[in-house]
Amino acid sequence: MRTAVITAAGEVELRRIPVPDVGDSEVLVRIAACGICTMEANLYAGRMTVYPAAAGHEISGWVERVGATAAGLEDMPAVGSLVTLDGLPRCGACRACRRGQSAICVALQGRVREADGAIAMGAGLADHIVLPASRVWSVGDTDPAVAAMGEPLACVVHSLRRGGFRAGDRVTVIGAGYMGHLHLAVARELGARGVAVVERDEERRTAVAGFADAAVRPSDLAQLPAADVVFVTIASAECIAAALAAVADGGTIVLFGGAPDGPPAELPGYEVHRRQLTVTGSFSHEPDDWRTAAELLRCGSLAPRLESLVTARYGLDEVEKALKQASETPVYRVVVTP
Ligand SMILES: [Zn+2]
Ligand SMILES: [Zn+2]
Repeated sequence: MRTAVITAAGEVELRRIPVPDVGDSEVLVRIAACGICTMEANLYAGRMTVYPAAAGHEISGWVERVGATAAGLEDMPAVGSLVTLDGLPRCGACRACRRGQSAICVALQGRVREADGAIAMGAGLADHIVLPASRVWSVGDTDPAVAAMGEPLACVVHSLRRGGFRAGDRVTVIGAGYMGHLHLAVARELGARGVAVVERDEERRTAVAGFADAAVRPSDLAQLPAADVVFVTIASAECIAAALAAVADGGTIVLFGGAPDGPPAELPGYEVHRRQLTVTGSFSHEPDDWRTAAELLRCGSLAPRLESLVTARYGLDEVEKALKQASETPVYRVVVTP
């Protein structure tokens, strides 16, 4: 099988390695699509320097073989069915995992692959993948590029859960990038009373306008009804300040977007106290989020919206072009289909 390995900033190799063996509790999947997320773009651009990296963690594919133990389980996807995959392993043993908070597992990525010494960080930019059966989710019949959005959808479901979102809540999403669009789509699907989007860029604001109840520039924030939950998908002090202005008394602000080097935001302690606000973070996902994400894909109503977020598709032999586009230009999702 072929597997793409990012070996240095701006360098990617297409290597050949043997298809891995399938253990009793594992599943072999022929990869159908793999989305390029911030992590892969950062690795290729040299903003993250874990090399050599077998990256690609937004994966869908067709089940090719199911290990003996897994095959006997109820709800196990059958051979030939389309699945979405949780490609980032959790150790299950660290303090966070033992507390049921595997999203913040200390060993989230970085196992060295025996076949070629690459560090497995999803390893989805490849022809095949073997994963524990617990991380393979059936999605029914949909576009494989859409099925590959299981991982970002699980992140968004996690974010909604972290924000204590309930049907009937008013929601405001700050930032209309890919993750902003997904927050808007999922909140709507799960019964938000209204979803508003705040976005500075005019092109992005126009692109999201038809799907939101309101899409405004930051200076027009005051026009929006106060939101029960505000999702900040762009990490900046400015966006966090906007969230404080957008949230209703008693509401929750979820810091979803992350920028490790951004300037620290000021937290107005008295305001948080007096208005009884909750400010929380959301990172990655947990198994229960995957169950919901897979179900959102299976029911199909989001499919046209999700399909419209595929910016470009490339074959695995064009993986370099895909990484270049995703790391150098504004995109929603660039997808590699082996
Ligand atoms: Zn991702
Ligand atoms: Zn862990």
